[in-house]
Amino acid sequence: MIRSYYIDYPQEHIEGQAHRYRCLFCKQETTAINGHLEGHATTCTYRLQMEKAGFECQHSDAATPMTEADDYD
Ligand SMILES: [Zn+2]
Repeated sequence: MIRSYYIDYPQEHIEGQAHRYRCLFCKQETTAINGHLEGHATTCTYRLQMEKAGFECQHSDAATPMTEADDYD
């Protein structure tokens, strides 16, 4: 089971940082998580719950421009 976005995790406001939030469990910033399950720490309670529920990390083929590189063969 794969979902496009995982945004239903509990969030908390980052103190002193306007409009910035982070995962309540693993403290990763929402902008770093970016709706991806793998954006959470591997030990994150939310991520573990989702993985246990059968959801998978989305190893997306389209949304990872950073891995765009020359062919290594
Ligand atoms: Zn998390």
